[in-house]
Amino acid sequence: MAPDKNIEGLAENWGADFFGVAELSPARDAILEQGGAVIAEYPRAISIGIALLDTIVDQLPQRAERAVAINYQHHGYDLINQRLDLISSRLSSVIQSDGYKALPVPASKTIDDEKLVAAFSHKMGAHLAGLGWIGKNCLLITPERGPRVRWATILTDAPLKVTGESMEDGCGDCQKCVEICPINAFTGQPFREKEAREARFDAGKCDRYLTRLEEQNHVGVCGLCLYICPYGRQ
Ligand code: SF4
Ligand code: SF4
Repeated sequence: MAPDKNIEGLAENWGADFFGVAELSPARDAILEQGGAVIAEYPRAISIGIALLDTIVDQLPQRAERAVAINYQHHGYDLINQRLDLISSRLSSVIQSDGYKALPVPASKTIDDEKLVAAFSHKMGAHLAGLGWIGKNCLLITPERGPRVRWATILTDAPLKVTGESMEDGCGDCQKCVEICPINAFTGQPFREKEAREARFDAGKCDRYLTRLEEQNHVGVCGLCLYICPYGRQ
């Protein structure tokens, strides 16, 4: 029996702009490898997303100005992640009170400093829930808001209705994110299910670039690969 409460309605009321439910069995091996058995035991994922403010994202080319970088770090990252975590926590409590298991996965916490991955890929959850495709910038691209969305996930055994299938790649010949990256972190390869992220993106390069900025007394913010995507750009 499905949970008593309207989970999607609650997520919307609490500020989620995107909501989806994914069946995880097609990605079981990848989930097990990334997060281990404690993560891979759940059959479904609830994906929630909050759209970033365009006023914040559109300033990113001026990120060398401290006020711009700090505002992006605060309003484009820290605060949105906290809002996502709060919604995930509240929804998990509701699901639990309906008699099911619910495990919120933090919006932005890596569990492996070398591979730079979270316990569960929020992008993959949203992709499997039919909310978008994985772009050449390795971000989830939604038709409505492009990559200008942050994501969180709740893993659950609640028998919620799955919302969609993986969306077809919409990048086509576009290479804008590949070309704008200041340290050439992308190979330009499109996403392929069975291929490791390294075939498309050197996450370590991006991380080291941001650390270098901090060491040079700048704010460690970039996001140009998110800013430039024609999807979601006004
Ligand atoms: S955030 Fe900047 S440095 Fe990192 S991958 Fe995107 S464009 Fe490249
Ligand atoms: S900028 Fe172009 S290639 Fe990159 S994710 Fe967006 S649509 Fe795809």
